[in-house]
Amino acid sequence: MAENETYTTTNFVHSIIDEDNRSGKHGGRVHTRFPPEPNGYLHIGHAKSICLNFGTAIKYGGLCNLRFDDTNPSKEEVEYVDSIQEDVKWLGFDWDNRKFYASNYFDQLYQYGVELIKAGKAFVCDLTAQEIRDYRGTLTEPGKESPYRNRSVEENVDLFNRMKNGEFPDGSRVLRAKIDMGSPNLNMRDPVIYRILRATHHRTGDKWCIYPMYDFAHPLSDALEGITHSVCTLEFEDHRPLYDWLLEAVNHECRPQQIEFARLNLSYTMMSKRKLRALVEEGYVAGWDDPRMPTISGLRRRGFTPEAIRDFCDRIGVAKSNSVVDYALLEHCIREDLNVKARRAMAVLKPLKVVIENYPEDVVEELVAENHPENPELGNRKIPFSRVVYIEQDDFMEDPPKKFFRLAPGQEVRLKHAYIIKCNDVIKDETTGAVIELRCTYDPETKSGGALSGRKVKGTLHWVSAAHAVKAEVRLYDQLFLSEDPETGEDYTANLNPDSLTTLTECILEPSIAEANVGLHFQFLRQGYFVVDRDSSPEKLVFNRVVGLRDSWAKLQKG
Ligand code: ATP
Ligand code: MG
Repeated sequence: MAENETYTTTNFVHSIIDEDNRSGKHGGRVHTRFPPEPNGYLHIGHAKSICLNFGTAIKYGGLCNLRFDDTNPSKEEVEYVDSIQEDVKWLGFDWDNRKFYASNYFDQLYQYGVELIKAGKAFVCDLTAQEIRDYRGTLTEPGKESPYRNRSVEENVDLFNRMKNGEFPDGSRVLRAKIDMGSPNLNMRDPVIYRILRATHHRTGDKWCIYPMYDFAHPLSDALEGITHSVCTLEFEDHRPLYDWLLEAVNHECRPQQIEFARLNLSYTMMSKRKLRALVEEGYVAGWDDPRMPTISGLRRRGFTPEAIRDFCDRIGVAKSNSVVDYALLEHCIREDLNVKARRAMAVLKPLKVVIENYPEDVVEELVAENHPENPELGNRKIPFSRVVYIEQDDFMEDPPKKFFRLAPGQEVRLKHAYIIKCNDVIKDETTGAVIELRCTYDPETKSGGALSGRKVKGTLHWVSAAHAVKAEVRLYDQLFLSEDPETGEDYTANLNPDSLTTLTECILEPSIAEANVGLHFQFLRQGYFVVDRDSSPEKLVFNRVVGLRDSWAKLQKG
């Protein structure tokens, strides 16, 4: 974890912990866990949970475990386990030697199943899945007891053992907790705690053909790990009575306490792992780390920093009721971080040739530019200036409206770090009529630092010397979805933004950028923040735009 972060912010989870520490409830211990199911890559919502769980442990000098909740064998893969570890570490957190798998506890969990049976608190049920649903009742009607509910302990122990030994087909029997079919809480109506499922598990292979249900495995895994505060999202609130019931029912002294918080919802962003996986598998995006994905790996590749994501998680806070966070806040956080860190440079994304007719053909000047306007420690660099430069196509208009303070026939602009130039002539493609070149003159007295360096003109443009230009591909991103709530409607793929990726292949960079390594950030003047993509090579530089410069969130706060 970054040393300079203090974890002094507080939230309602911390208030609960403070109270527990006062009363001595958990002996003053704070031990949390982050329990991902390895069925997909982590996303920005998980980052909230990671920051909360690991951050709380740091704040209280406690511990946080990484636990793979791998009770569902058919959906889990080693690739996900690896990516989850990489992402948690990248975010800046450390589980030390406390990496666990719920599957490590399968033997113990089976024993707890037997223990419940022996205490008369569980039974083997032969109803079909559909019958179990039918018997369950509704929110307004009580459920009906299973005809198998009163089997003897001996018969239940025997059947459960034979379930484990593979004597029965998949789905033919389940183990259920014996609680209360009349409970107003549906989760307490004799919930299924074990099922028969022949599926190869990524860690236990074919050893087991019965698997514990999440609601059974989770509290008991928490107890086995000595967890004190089991923080989860709000949809588990109704499961808490079952969580507590199971802890009471088995013989284990640890009493972790479940605390629910509101999950992160982000505008324009879909966070269901199942649907994110579909986007990958059906080729709507290039992979889990496609820079348009809300996954940690996608955000990383896009150029987000761990500091910005942690700052975001800090700012959104932790609440008890669901809400939607504006995506612009996430962008605001990365802008704030990169504004401090990123070196400035000039890049022309859509080049237009400018010939400075009164500049000598054989001269190259080395102009000095600061790498960061507020941070002299980042030093200076040299930028070559010569007779032919490129500017941005959008920075010229032949027939401009009144307040167009960029280049136009007869108009002057300053080239950043260089001279004032004036546009005299426009050269067009004979067949298409497109503007392909500008003929300009420069005023030699207006060089930065020169006699007339203070002469004011309204516009300042970025530019790159043609003879020294480095070519690059630049990828610009927009929201992956057009709709603020992408999951509305029947088919979320109908909300996909067809223009979420724009690839510009003819971009031109100043030569100082040629050597940049993958992951290095820049602010390209007037264009936003960029990062070198992992597709980049010395032969072909590739950049992603992390975010543009316009901060709609900051504007909103001021307005
Ligand atoms: P899905 O239902 O899409 O599979 P999940 O919530 O089940 O996602 P898990 O891998 O079980 O995903 O999540 C691990 C932890 O991260 C859980 O404690 C879960 O509550 C938390 N988490 C998941 N999504 C969010 C979110 N959007 N905001 C905050 N916490 C989240
Ligand atoms: Mg889950």
